[in-house]
Amino acid sequence: MTAELHVLAAARLRREDQRYTSNRRALVDALQAADGPLTIPELLERCPGVPQSSAYRNLALLEQARVVHRIVTTDEFARFELTEELTEDHHHHLICSRCGSVTDFSVPPSLERRLEKALDEVAGATGFAAEHHRFDLVGRCADCA
Ligand SMILES: [Zn+2]
Ligand SMILES: [Zn+2]
Ligand SMILES: [Zn+2]
Repeated sequence: MTAELHVLAAARLRREDQRYTSNRRALVDALQAADGPLTIPELLERCPGVPQSSAYRNLALLEQARVVHRIVTTDEFARFELTEELTEDHHHHLICSRCGSVTDFSVPPSLERRLEKALDEVAGATGFAAEHHRFDLVGRCADCA
């Protein structure tokens, strides 16, 4: 799985005329090992060899190549994870509007299917052909509630 992930990541970067450098590989490794989305400071902590100056640029490139997904939160701290296309792990997020924490959140497959169907119907009425969905819940986490 890990080897395959790196092959996919390298192929996506190549399409952008970018190389899969050791720093980019370190970032992907850290994201894969994490049990949730990471902020840049958290990533840097796990990638001591990656200079902060290059982390921003590398993450932007990885995002552009669709290796990394940036989660929009309510605070200024962006969080990153590997894209679902790479991990084949479809899920949603619980975003706390108070402390900014982001937790991965899975919906049972039967509910996902109903959700897909309902979304297809609504979007289809506008002539839009949906490929996948992406949504996050914003509220208060258990600690902040
Ligand atoms: Zn919170
Ligand atoms: Zn996630
Ligand atoms: Zn879903």
